[in-house]
Amino acid sequence: MNPLRTEPQRLQDIADRLAGYDPNALAVAQAQAFIAALVPTVQGVEQLALRSALGRVLAQPILSPLDVPSHDNSAMDGYALRGQDLRSDGPTELKIAGKGLAGLQFEGTVAPGECVRITTGAVMPAGLDTVVPQEFATVVNGVVRVEPGVVRPGDNRRLAGEDLAKGAVALPQGRLLTASDLGVAASLGRAELPVRRRLRVAFFSTGDELRSLGETLDTGCVYDSNRYTIWGMLQRLGFVDLIDMGVVRDNAAALTAAFEQASQCADAIITSGGVSVGEADHTKQVMAALGDVAFWRIAMRPGRPMAIGRLHGGTVLFGLPGNPVAVMVTFYAFVRGALLQMAGVQGLPPVLLKARCQTPLRKKPGRTEYQRGIVTRGSDGQWEVRITGAQGSGILSSMSAANGLVILPHESGSVNTGDWVDVWPFEGLI
Ligand code: AMP
Ligand code: MG
Repeated sequence: MNPLRTEPQRLQDIADRLAGYDPNALAVAQAQAFIAALVPTVQGVEQLALRSALGRVLAQPILSPLDVPSHDNSAMDGYALRGQDLRSDGPTELKIAGKGLAGLQFEGTVAPGECVRITTGAVMPAGLDTVVPQEFATVVNGVVRVEPGVVRPGDNRRLAGEDLAKGAVALPQGRLLTASDLGVAASLGRAELPVRRRLRVAFFSTGDELRSLGETLDTGCVYDSNRYTIWGMLQRLGFVDLIDMGVVRDNAAALTAAFEQASQCADAIITSGGVSVGEADHTKQVMAALGDVAFWRIAMRPGRPMAIGRLHGGTVLFGLPGNPVAVMVTFYAFVRGALLQMAGVQGLPPVLLKARCQTPLRKKPGRTEYQRGIVTRGSDGQWEVRITGAQGSGILSSMSAANGLVILPHESGSVNTGDWVDVWPFEGLI
């Protein structure tokens, strides 16, 4: 049984609602919208100890059960005083009535004209509202002297609840949990967080020319590199259980068995190769027989052919093209966002840079292009980008040389030197 609980929509129903849907000339934005309508979100939730929750997806909002900090406290090491005691016409002199340390509160009362020695994080003694940092005070015989103007009433005091007020949303549902989120949860006293279960993603490569590592490379054969880039890209997501199914031979029985196995155990299956128009092999036929599958030609470069659909049983199918660069580009353009949605991630749009293009780029309107770029900081502090040389969809070294994808939008034409272009940095992705 597939673990996804879905209300499956037929692909045709999604297509009917998408204005101008043409599977043979699909704009990238249309393909993304189609996929967003297709993929469900996993429902299983597990409670994890805080450290294990790093990089996982928060399943419910976390409300603060308390004010953080719980008391007004000092932001500095120094002397706590009443703001109204500060004089503007000359030095203020205050007698030290005692001390309050972080974790050891000053319990006494403070008379007018007195102050309390205080350390960072210590609770503000009753009635005191201002801290003069020790470097701005001189102390002689138990009397603190503050020159006029060095502090204003209320300075250097943290207010109760200024980080998180009791009842406020401390962490929203759908957060991909970060180091700071773990700290926020800990500051609320939480030892565990509810996260969505990991996404199970199977993947295999197709093509009789492919050889696995360790095999000899016969004439006309290539090593299967896609399985390694796909593994790496999935692993980077952080919430995926990976099921590596190897290279599947290009015959109907082997492909059928592989898809059936994947549909037993995976929420999604990613394949590469065999989806080109006019492809003579069996991949497309088997996909079509085992589920509700659309075959697209997308108005993009690289990465034109792609299959998308749902196997009987619910497993989502991403049939990526075979060319190694096209695999990575279609993964980032379509699969990554879909897997984030399936995992329940909310509010994590790609962060794009604007960079000045250092060379002209030829492009026709009517397709989205993803060129491999190297982004650097110009002498004026602005981002600049140049292209990594030959951009063929088989030149995987162009991905390794790059540190981001230059995205040239569907409608845009050629780029002149100095034009601003969008770049999707690889930092954190690849
Ligand atoms: P296809 O989409 O099956 O026509 O493949 C397009 C190109 O990508 C061909 O040159 C294939 O040899 C190559 N290719 C397909 N799958 C892989 C893979 N797993 N690793 C490396 N190259 C591949
Ligand atoms: Mg092939």
